[in-house]
Amino acid sequence: MSSSVALRLPSIDGLLRHPACAPLAERYGRDSLLTGLRQLLDELRPGVLSGQLAAVEIGAEVLAGRVGERLAQQQRSQVRRVFNLTGTVLHTNLGRALLPEKAIEAVQMAARYPLNLEFDLASGKRGDRDDLIEGLIRELTGAEAVTVVNNNAAAVLLTLNSLGARKEGIISRGELIEIGGAFRIPDIMARAGVRLHEVGTTNRTHARDYQAAISPRSGLIMRVHASNYSIEGFTARVATAELAELAHAHGLPLLEDLGSGSLLDLTRWGLPAEPTVRQALLDGADIVTFSGDKLLGGPQAGLIVGRRELIAKIKKNPLKRALRVDKLTLAALEAVLGLYRDPDRLVERLPSLRLLTRPQAEIHAQAVRLQPLLADVLGEVWQVSAIEALGMIGSGSQPVARLPSAALCCRPQVSKRWRGRYLLNLEAALRGLPIPVLGRIGDDALWLDLRQLDDEPAWLAQLPQLQVDR
Ligand SMILES: *Cc1c(COP(=O)(O)O)cnc(C)c1O
Repeated sequence: MSSSVALRLPSIDGLLRHPACAPLAERYGRDSLLTGLRQLLDELRPGVLSGQLAAVEIGAEVLAGRVGERLAQQQRSQVRRVFNLTGTVLHTNLGRALLPEKAIEAVQMAARYPLNLEFDLASGKRGDRDDLIEGLIRELTGAEAVTVVNNNAAAVLLTLNSLGARKEGIISRGELIEIGGAFRIPDIMARAGVRLHEVGTTNRTHARDYQAAISPRSGLIMRVHASNYSIEGFTARVATAELAELAHAHGLPLLEDLGSGSLLDLTRWGLPAEPTVRQALLDGADIVTFSGDKLLGGPQAGLIVGRRELIAKIKKNPLKRALRVDKLTLAALEAVLGLYRDPDRLVERLPSLRLLTRPQAEIHAQAVRLQPLLADVLGEVWQVSAIEALGMIGSGSQPVARLPSAALCCRPQVSKRWRGRYLLNLEAALRGLPIPVLGRIGDDALWLDLRQLDDEPAWLAQLPQLQVDR
């Protein structure tokens, strides 16, 4: 388009004085508005100079509208709530365990007020932040002493470095695992300064293998709970009690990384058996490490429990200072641990346990109830059914165990050639909702596992906004 009269962009000053911009200055601040306007004008200038833009596209109202949209976008938080309908309850990418109300209150208190984080109120002297939860953890696990760090990866790193640096760490080849996100036992050992001495084979390791590896260079024996895979068939592993005996006969500590590390026997709620921290200690492990936000159901943290003199050594390591937890985590952790004192009411109080134990019949009834509503929004192209599905605990807990659940299963009624595209479009549309809905694609369908759909009103309220591209 050519024009005889050259177009000119409005001036910044003129725009700032324009009535369409005044509310934006009020809402987002004058500096943000100014920056936004400058950026927009810079972007439009080439189009104006080349004559590609029309006068209506650079009117003050239009520009104010565009800047307003941008500022709103920028102001929206990047940390967003989502609906986790993936079927994986403790989903690492979606923040793992949801905190119980008590812990949320504790976090608020800790965020809002000064607190006795490292101050002993009894003596008026300096305190130690681990003391705030030591009593509880000792009571719940039978451990002599405790220290808490940022996550279980940190717990393993710190323990190895404190007890085995410049020495050999003996470990079965069947336990040299990768946990995802680049956490690999051999690499962590190397970073901790422990020389890896692997023994046995992938599927079978015997006591005599450990025995043969012990030498004056040995610093510790390590055992890792193979939490995210399973070896079946012709297998052999040494029981913790036997391994502990062997370690102690040679003056070596036995470390056990339990990963999820449950505090209670989960089979009482019909969940798959997972080794408990108390049992590992009873069996003779000297140090046990586990996560705060896996089966425990609390905040991200790594708990190191075990023999007093070893914990003291770990706490003296300068790395401990670099890996320590903050006050919000400690406040949440104490509240969650407190709930374990009353196991009979744990299911109703601890969200992760409540969600993990939701009966399939109840989830299925919910799916039946919601099926016509989703079918109505999606229209004829989609066949929506309420059917049984299998979920997972997640976070490497019980990799082969499945949680009987129920889902809304959405199948596009189009030829095979188009199915993939329809599924991806539906997935994207669900992700684009104000509270993004995350499901999973499999078997030519999109599955919304309803085990974790607690807030049904919020889910339903945004359903009419679902717009699926064809
Ligand atoms: C999950 C896991 C870890 C890492 O724990 P994070 O809390 O995620 O840091 C370490 N070891 C095992 C066996 C695990 O399952």
